[in-house]
Amino acid sequence: RQSLKIGLIPADGIGKEVIPAAKAVLEALGSDIPKPEFVPLLAGWEVFTRGGNALPHETVDALKECDAALFGAVSSPTRRVTGYSSPIVQLRKELDLYANVRPVASVAANPGGKPDVDLVVVRENTECLYVKQEQITPTENGREARAIRLITERASSRIGKMAFDIALGRPRKQVTIIHKSNVLSVTDGLFRETVRAVPALPEINGAYDNVKIEEQIVDSAVYRLFREPEIYDVMVAPNLYGDILSDAAAALVGSLGLVPSVNAGDSFVMGEPVHGSAPDIEGKGIANPLAAIRSAALMLRFQGHTVGADRIDRAVEQVIREGEVLTPDLGGTSKTQEVLDAVLKKL
Ligand code: NAD
Ligand code: MN
Repeated sequence: RQSLKIGLIPADGIGKEVIPAAKAVLEALGSDIPKPEFVPLLAGWEVFTRGGNALPHETVDALKECDAALFGAVSSPTRRVTGYSSPIVQLRKELDLYANVRPVASVAANPGGKPDVDLVVVRENTECLYVKQEQITPTENGREARAIRLITERASSRIGKMAFDIALGRPRKQVTIIHKSNVLSVTDGLFRETVRAVPALPEINGAYDNVKIEEQIVDSAVYRLFREPEIYDVMVAPNLYGDILSDAAAALVGSLGLVPSVNAGDSFVMGEPVHGSAPDIEGKGIANPLAAIRSAALMLRFQGHTVGADRIDRAVEQVIREGEVLTPDLGGTSKTQEVLDAVLKKL
């Protein structure tokens, strides 16, 4: 791919402080990536309060002309607000970003983090309970609420392929399927069975033969994740389990300000730091930009720009390891700008 048109959606709060840092790092890569063109776009709570739409259609239209995007964070209200719905959930749908991929790895000298964590959570992003088909009905004994949980062979198979592809690029080459098919034998049974069958698909042509397949019931997977995270390499899960697992995994390595993610489809990828808009530190210039910078690297990796991605990851790791220029969430006293400068210097 020779063009690199990137939609930039800082959105709310510290999203506006960390996305410019990620942009600066991409600009500094020079000829290691095609010259990036940035398209600034709006989404989130602030634009909702002005125009009544958290995801203006101009943003979606513009994204469809881009090769990739970087999303900051939104401030979602905890109460129900008429007309508001989370732009990130909508974007996943509009752009068919069916995989949420979150690498979680410990870095030496990271205070509060566990050693030996090096895993990737691959979460199905489009179905399960998130189809949001809920119903409530009155009965003689009070109200009764039901939800539909959708698991399809198509979505399970494509998320399975994504997980195997990611595992192929990692030293341990291991995929753990997360499910609860001992209880939910039909829905989780289909997920498990479909992912297990991926390596034997004719179009795969044996490409995943060297990948080891494991499986684990979701509750014991969380238990073991906290006790012996080193047993995991790639974990693939239906939407709800993946949502919970990926936050739990992020907790293992110290700060939310370190953990990147991407929402990926077959033809589009959107990088997104795992953290939210952090209203408690907004405007102070102390937000950790490393999660956003790593999200930019992950975005590049998904586009095949491995050299650029590796350079960013190495620079970030050096800055963390040296431990001299860190934001307060990592026990340091540096500002966002100083951490960015340190990363740029290592590049
Ligand atoms: P949060 O991630 O914004 O903050 C949690 C804690 O971590 C805060 O103390 C914050 O200061 C700290 N933190 C987070 N990112 C940091 C960074 N880069 N550097 C330093 N410290 C950092 O979660 P929250 O407080 O539960 O939510 C705040 C808002 O963000 C809410 O409106 C919520 O809906 C939204 N949110 C959005 C997303 C998203 O856009 N994907 C994710 C989570 C929360
Ligand atoms: Mn979540």
